[in-house]
Amino acid sequence: MSKKCEKCKSELFLDKDKAWFCPECEADEFLEDFNPEDESDIQTSEWKVVKPETKPVTIRLNVVDVQIAKKLAKERNMPYQTLLKEIIHKNLA
Ligand SMILES: [Zn+2]
Repeated sequence: MSKKCEKCKSELFLDKDKAWFCPECEADEFLEDFNPEDESDIQTSEWKVVKPETKPVTIRLNVVDVQIAKKLAKERNMPYQTLLKEIIHKNLA
């Protein structure tokens, strides 16, 4: 059984909650939300003292990872970028 995305006509996949998703549209949506230039939340002088310098990077992510990250971020009521920063930071520590 396969389904096609109404927007981009790509093949849809089932996520682990048995919901259909389009990896192409999910990725686009993710990239729209993921704006490495947006550091507005750390522009105040207070944050500059506490937070280390940041550098914008562009990475291509596995669509399933994106799905999971989106879900987790939603559950924790936090932006993806913050969630991903946390995960990367923890794993590099
Ligand atoms: Zn699509």
